[in-house]
Amino acid sequence: MHADTYRHRGMRRALVEELRRKGIRDERVLAAIGLVPRHLFFDTAFQPHAYQDKAFPIGEGQTISQPYTVAYQTELLQLRPTDRVLEIGTGSGYQCCVLLELTPHVFSIEYNKVLFERTARRLASMGRAPHLFCGDGSMGLPQYAPFDKILVTAGAPVLPRPLLRQLRVGGSLIIPVGDENSQRMMRVVRESEEEFSRQELEEFRFVPLLGQAGWGQPG
Ligand code: SAM
Repeated sequence: MHADTYRHRGMRRALVEELRRKGIRDERVLAAIGLVPRHLFFDTAFQPHAYQDKAFPIGEGQTISQPYTVAYQTELLQLRPTDRVLEIGTGSGYQCCVLLELTPHVFSIEYNKVLFERTARRLASMGRAPHLFCGDGSMGLPQYAPFDKILVTAGAPVLPRPLLRQLRVGGSLIIPVGDENSQRMMRVVRESEEEFSRQELEEFRFVPLLGQAGWGQPG
């Protein structure tokens, strides 16, 4: 059921080398990608493609992000093993498992109930235990704040205020911001209670961040 064969491990090593060639430098991030069996997050029909550097459908109109994107965002987080990290958009649970290789304190929230339930079952059956929630992640998880790091894996129209307020001073938010066609990756650091600095990085194309502080309700 959860077979991770010699062949899968070989394909994972090749993927890690591809990400290195594409500019990912953080060895801890590359090691994490090398450890998480991405094929186990795919429907059977797509499993043969699991180690291509591509996004794929996971049902409910959503996608598992491209490995380069996962590595790029994870590198920007600069996670320390003591960090509490919040991921918005659990999706397949793959990114969540990459984060778990870097810190045990992972919180992740998914809006889509079908995906949430499927992924919660999948992660439990893999013996992975992040803190999973179902709800509007554009509002964050105020009852568990502050977070050292917040990662948004869907494209937002603007910086969601609730997420900024839930960052610890010194903490950072990694989020793609733009319109529905393309978004600019942003790193926002909370410099003090009231001051934030922001850096604009590469362009990407994500599915939309829904919800109150995103593009609104589904449908
Ligand atoms: N990180 C995921 C993975 O590793 O498979 C990929 C995420 S997919 C690109 C974006 C996810 O964000 C979708 O599953 C979508 O349902 C979810 N999403 C969109 N708006 C959301 C919101 N307001 N709160 C929580 N999840 C949201």
